[in-house]
Amino acid sequence: GELTERYVAAHPRSRALMEQAGQHLPGGNTRSVLHFEPFPLVMESGWADRLRDVDSSEYIDCAGEFSAGLYGHSDPTIRAAIEAALDNGLVLGAPNRYEARLAELIAQRFPSLEQMRFCNSGTEANLLAVMTARIVTGRDSILVFSGAYHGGVLSYPTGGNAMNVPLDVVMTPFNDVESFTSVMSQQGPKIAAVLVEPVLGAAGNMVASQEFLEALRKLTRDHGALLIFDEVKTSRLGEGGMQGRTAITPDMTTLGKYLGGGLSFGAFGGTRHVMERFDPGHPDALKHAGTFNNNPLSLAAGIAGLREVFTRERAEEFLSISERFREELASELKRRGLPVQVSGLGSILSLHYGETLPRNAEAVHPATMKLRRLVHLDCLEKGVYLTARGDIFLSLPMTEGTLTHLKDSLVASAESEVAYL
Ligand code: PLP
Repeated sequence: GELTERYVAAHPRSRALMEQAGQHLPGGNTRSVLHFEPFPLVMESGWADRLRDVDSSEYIDCAGEFSAGLYGHSDPTIRAAIEAALDNGLVLGAPNRYEARLAELIAQRFPSLEQMRFCNSGTEANLLAVMTARIVTGRDSILVFSGAYHGGVLSYPTGGNAMNVPLDVVMTPFNDVESFTSVMSQQGPKIAAVLVEPVLGAAGNMVASQEFLEALRKLTRDHGALLIFDEVKTSRLGEGGMQGRTAITPDMTTLGKYLGGGLSFGAFGGTRHVMERFDPGHPDALKHAGTFNNNPLSLAAGIAGLREVFTRERAEEFLSISERFREELASELKRRGLPVQVSGLGSILSLHYGETLPRNAEAVHPATMKLRRLVHLDCLEKGVYLTARGDIFLSLPMTEGTLTHLKDSLVASAESEVAYL
């Protein structure tokens, strides 16, 4: 109550602009995930790892564009690449000098993508991967895990409405080898693909166990289904994403977010055997179009990012810096005796209420969402901008000092808010 009142009083311009926006945008909104009560902040500008809202308050940006903002808002290398691309025109209506270069860089980092195609978002990448799997296997069903988010029309929350494409979907709990094995033994022959986030993100950043991913790999092979890793977010976790860390090779992978340097981007790819169907010279070629699939700005930004900023070494270093952050945050919460856990891996994390970390969406404590809502509002007062649903994204511009401030703010917020649960 009090937190909300102070929030309303501190953000009159955001409030007025959101009201105006409601004229032609339902609820003033065009991305449901950005909505929160009483109204979201309208941002004026971003630089490095900072944001300034229209009421001139400044924040550490821990929403990090839901992972796309790995480089922050003003990395000079990325900017220069975008400006150089801009000098040569927008979309050129022809292959350009960028797409093969980015494909090569991605294939070096993620060798399971022997070949790939680009698109404009992670959602598109997943839709295209799933449709590809259906065609190459001649089967209809897709197996997903409850709580998974693979895009706005491929979303499997444990509650609430999803506006999904009408796919034949089989759902089973994440990190549960027994349930998965039993579903596969009953329905294996109709499953075209198993689509999995190796860290179940939107549901609360639960990391897949090695045993679980190994079971997915083995049973998809046994049953003739494809294994698709949605690494739209997890591709930033070390130099080769989760497939690199776990040494489990999926048949297909979907990517997006930071790989377009902070601009809109998606990619899907896999074995040559699967992807060669997209070769226009193939006798039974699949047609995949998209006006902006090779838009030079995203591609140039993505290339500069992988080549010069998020190098393999920097990716590994960033993973260990952020792992240390997560561990220190968790141990400080524990030291204070707070019933709050920190899930996730590296630079993507979430707070959970309870004495233990949940392993899947079913195990998330009922008080967790309320804790996150309160911490979110409380952190805004401390100059820390989290996603409204509570995920915390670290980004490359964050210094040791910023991380310390962030950790202290999260601990202080959690400590004052657990009292209200
Ligand atoms: N897959 C995962 C795991 C995601 O987290 C997201 C977005 O948050 C998507 C897919 C969809 O990506 P996009 O928002 O670019 O469509």
